[in-house]
Amino acid sequence: MTDALDILAIAAHRDDVEQTCGGTLLKMAERGYRTGILDLTQGEMGTRGTVEDRAREAAEAARILKATWRGALDIPDGRVENTWENRLKIARVIREQRPRVVILPYWQARHPDHATCSTLGYEACFLAGLTKLGKTPGFTDPEDLGAVAKLPPHRPFKIVYASLYYDVRPGFVVDITGQFERRVEALMAYKSQYEDQADGSGLFPLKQEIRQRLETMASFYGMLAGVKYAEPFVQKEIGVVDDLLAIPVKSL
Ligand SMILES: [Zn+2]
Repeated sequence: MTDALDILAIAAHRDDVEQTCGGTLLKMAERGYRTGILDLTQGEMGTRGTVEDRAREAAEAARILKATWRGALDIPDGRVENTWENRLKIARVIREQRPRVVILPYWQARHPDHATCSTLGYEACFLAGLTKLGKTPGFTDPEDLGAVAKLPPHRPFKIVYASLYYDVRPGFVVDITGQFERRVEALMAYKSQYEDQADGSGLFPLKQEIRQRLETMASFYGMLAGVKYAEPFVQKEIGVVDDLLAIPVKSL
């Protein structure tokens, strides 16, 4: 069995993680944590580029973000559904990679795949921790998922939601000032998507504009916490404080 991941980011599409929490993943990797990325789809519906292009680009982006592991499932692009089979597919990865922290997309979203990924990921994390998963009578085990029942149960300690795609007040932000440029570089690794080109030019913003947007968003979330650049997150739990003198971010 491979070494457990500390952090696993799960997203619907290749490049979602780069856009919403890539700086955070890089920062955590630089702290010595083992980070991973699971993309649920392979991008076959994209206007630009092929699945193979995207796989290569995703690997390059993962290298820039210093991720230890990156995988993609075969869930159809544009059809991320919260089904038993999909929950098992993700639960299997969670049991294999055993992350302590899971990053999911925020549960409200314009793109239905993002919203579904959030609930699907949450339910898969729950399922992965059930000792009796696959061991009760009547368990319907899709052929290729036999492995999930054979792996030891694992439930992540913490789930946080990357909320950059949605206009919601974050519960906390991660300072990515030192990682911002490389995060932009990781996104630009998706050359089939972001290099200026004729295909879908009416649909896609120009490279320069993308950089500007990334910077505007990162500055906005940074400003909320008094740092230059940051990425926003929401957690469902209430944070607990032991020492009032150690709370970061000054009030005035
Ligand atoms: Zn997406």
